[in-house]
Amino acid sequence: MIIDSHLHISIITKGDSNFELVKQRLLKEMKINKVARAIVIPDNEPNPQCANLDAVIELTRNEPKLSVIATLKADQINGGNLKKIEKLFLKKQALGFKIFPGHDPVYPTDKRWRPVFKLCQNYDLPLIIHTGINSGNRSAAKYNDPKYIVKVAKNFKNLKIIIAHYFWPELDYCFKITAGFDNIYFDTSALADLEIIQESGGLKKIREILTKTVRRRSNSILFGTDWPIGSFKKHIDLINSLPLSSGEKQNIFFRNAEFAFRLKK
Ligand SMILES: [Zn+2]
Repeated sequence: MIIDSHLHISIITKGDSNFELVKQRLLKEMKINKVARAIVIPDNEPNPQCANLDAVIELTRNEPKLSVIATLKADQINGGNLKKIEKLFLKKQALGFKIFPGHDPVYPTDKRWRPVFKLCQNYDLPLIIHTGINSGNRSAAKYNDPKYIVKVAKNFKNLKIIIAHYFWPELDYCFKITAGFDNIYFDTSALADLEIIQESGGLKKIREILTKTVRRRSNSILFGTDWPIGSFKKHIDLINSLPLSSGEKQNIFFRNAEFAFRLKK
């Protein structure tokens, strides 16, 4: 079985004229690639190209294969919105929360996030953190440097934190600084994309870092693609190419996601 822990309902080709069509294409591609379930991450602002939280909730309402991650901007955190997020967690309409440091000029250690992190911790749902450089804007990575993420991991010991994109292109640095944190996880989203492979030292480097990460803690990597930008097939091939046992690969493909997002409870 395969669970995709990180994708979006976003319009990247002219053929996808609305989110409903993107969703249909998503379900079709999931079927072709034998992806049983997917976690859809909304954009944290109204964006005609990428569905936001309300749109994703609406689009996935009757789609048992699609689950949702909640998100807000730091300046939207207030009593009312926290209640809304808690309600989503309670009804299992959202299975975690994502922050976008680097898209937003806000650090993961910003005090405003604390009530959200507490909420995730109380409901045992993960916090996903966007990391790495943005194409055309390398300085954005200063906001999502894992040195801040480990501070959050220290302050919220029972919070499951998923680092998205492995702080590319600085994979080794991200690997080293997260050593010893049993509440830090990584998703593989975008790691099979050509730009990220080229910028991060090549496919051999990506394979090496993922293998080392599994050896360090076998439950720490979750399969993710960043579809529609990332390809299902390329990411599946990447995991299958790792020198790991089939049990270890199954952990990546679905068991770690089942645990992190509490899919079986
Ligand atoms: Zn993404």
